[in-house]
Amino acid sequence: TERLLQKSEKLALLGQMAAGIAHEIRNPLTSIKGFVQLFKDQNQQKEYYDIVLSELDRINAIVGEFLVLAKPSAAVYSEQDVKELIRDVVTLFNNQSLLNNVQIFVEFDRDLPMISCEQNQLKQVLLNLLKNAIEAMPMGGIVEIRAMAKEDGKISIQVTDQGMGIPEDRIPTLGEPFYTTKEKGTGLGLMTSYKIIESHNGELVISSKVNEGTTIEIILPALTQEYIKST
Ligand code: ADP
Ligand code: MG
Repeated sequence: TERLLQKSEKLALLGQMAAGIAHEIRNPLTSIKGFVQLFKDQNQQKEYYDIVLSELDRINAIVGEFLVLAKPSAAVYSEQDVKELIRDVVTLFNNQSLLNNVQIFVEFDRDLPMISCEQNQLKQVLLNLLKNAIEAMPMGGIVEIRAMAKEDGKISIQVTDQGMGIPEDRIPTLGEPFYTTKEKGTGLGLMTSYKIIESHNGELVISSKVNEGTTIEIILPALTQEYIKST
């Protein structure tokens, strides 16, 4: 019965998410349809093109974030170096951080153990967190990424920003699909991140102070010597 319950809960969540997606995708589609209708009548308004393009971007972002979750069967776990994963993702933000007046500092423990992870999924989580950190500082600032070994055989990766912070009563809402405070947000980044970290037997911990900043911590099991020898 435990299994059945889990399955029906999963199905309920899936149905809820499907309804949410349908709703979220219908909004930009309705808007695009209206503007395309206008193109038919008059063809010179540049701003209409901009609206259509940004709505298309929005659909693309929603579908893209869901695709990350929709392919669990393709997940391949391998031994990875957290430092390399972080460096790869930070490189992707070179342009965006420059444009937003954001500096990214990275700090690693000297002897970081390896982890077992689905490389692309973990990069996706780091990407989501870094993106949120930059977006939390519209005037610019510093993002710090720290990776350290914890005593209990775990690894901690912390992403800290100096942004607007999150009110305490909002923190429990953060894993919910489509919760966003951004005009162009999808509200899917953190939900996807929670799911991915959960499937890695890890934890995502959020601490934040309004107007001071936010730290999001990823805790993952480290690969122990015993584990490596046995595989
Ligand atoms: P999105 O970024 O598309 O809004 P997310 O799931 O990534 O969706 O984040 C959901 C919400 O959580 C954001 O809209 C924002 O309100 C809040 N949030 C997430 N990360 C941060 C952060 N580093 N600082 C402040 N608020 C944040
Ligand atoms: Mg986000």
